[in-house]
Amino acid sequence: MRITDIRATTVAVPLYGQLRHSNGAHWGRFIRTIVEVETDEGLVGLGELGGGGESAEAAVTALKSYLLGHDPFQLEAMRFKICNPTASLYNNRTQIHAALEFACLDIIGQYLNVPVYQLLGGKLRDRVPFASYLFFRLPDNAGADEIRTVDQLIAYTRALKAECGFTTHKLKGGVFPPKYELECYQALAAEFPTDRLRYDPNGVLSVEEALHFGRAILGLNNDYFEDPVWGMNGLRRLRSLLPIPIATNTVVVNFEQLAANVLNPAVDVILLDTTFWGGIRPCVKAAGVCETFQLGVAVHSSGELGIQLATMLHLGAVLPNLTFAADAHYHHLRDDIIAGGKMKYEGGAIRVPEGPGLGVKLDRDKVAVYHEAYLRDGGYPYDRDPARPHWFALVPNQDWADPDVAASGAAAEAASSRAAASAPSGPSAPVQAERPNPEAEGDEVHAPSR
Ligand SMILES: [Mg+2]
Repeated sequence: MRITDIRATTVAVPLYGQLRHSNGAHWGRFIRTIVEVETDEGLVGLGELGGGGESAEAAVTALKSYLLGHDPFQLEAMRFKICNPTASLYNNRTQIHAALEFACLDIIGQYLNVPVYQLLGGKLRDRVPFASYLFFRLPDNAGADEIRTVDQLIAYTRALKAECGFTTHKLKGGVFPPKYELECYQALAAEFPTDRLRYDPNGVLSVEEALHFGRAILGLNNDYFEDPVWGMNGLRRLRSLLPIPIATNTVVVNFEQLAANVLNPAVDVILLDTTFWGGIRPCVKAAGVCETFQLGVAVHSSGELGIQLATMLHLGAVLPNLTFAADAHYHHLRDDIIAGGKMKYEGGAIRVPEGPGLGVKLDRDKVAVYHEAYLRDGGYPYDRDPARPHWFALVPNQDWADPDVAASGAAAEAASSRAAASAPSGPSAPVQAERPNPEAEGDEVHAPSR
């Protein structure tokens, strides 16, 4: 079998609300590039990668000259063709390789008429449990969908749990002052006393703040403390002071870093991301290393549509040492581009697809609709906050959003236009007092909200 074509199509799929994180926000939509690999057998394999838009499309299709004529069964050869480790110093293609690996596994599975999990050692579970993955949210144009106050967070989580059945809750923090996010986390623990919890501020706390936060939650049902501080040395220092498992999806994302963590441990749980690690198979290999050294593993989410979710489900199905609920942004999506609509949560879990290959197919009408949406609205700057135009995060951060200030719907308006997405400091973007911007000479400077 030979690869005869590689296509890439970027889509913008709407979210419920704008999801806030330590660097800014997801501005009400996910930008994903759908990859299709076609073969001379008439089989088409699906892959997916995030961000980039036009540049991702160009980077993927540029590999046609490397891969046309390649046998999709030859996965290791493909790895070295496009991800040779020394050549990768000049061309880092890890996430592109991941999308192509997904597509080739999809083709192999279709060719053999087996689900991808059969190619990975066979499934150990039929359904993969997920965490609720809670975000603070900016309001939409009409002022709805905001999650800022403790009451809003609890009400949202209660409704989400009723709808999806989650019994593990992950709070994405790093937005508001740590003292306030601690209050939110403790409120979740009080509201759901038998559920599991995890907190992830994306590495923006200082070691001292993280230690204070960690000591305050010692008695709670913590799965782990995820990337509380930046860097293996910071995490190692915190780990030496705190009896809570430390997890990361930021500083152990390849085998060199995994080896470094085995030799001088900084974290206890490795969150495996099928895109960050370059495919499903590298994640399975990494889980094997973790099994040997008795490190925990979990499944990380980098903002998926149904194709990548399928890769996470096949991965989750085959890992013997997956003892934690997986992460997914999936329930934040309003729609999906796969045939049959969004996959369903049942009892906090999603069923592993049983069809050949990844077990998902494109809904071409939906792809067309959301490709149009991408052409109309464009991408968004992941590391900018529509509610704080000139703000940017320090690490450790010292300038937090103010939980007492409601962002206005104008932030949503700013986020929804292509022009504003590339220039988030436009006059319609309000909202909160901000750090002085040294690059904006002459701009009015507000008092910082510390
Ligand atoms: Mg994380």
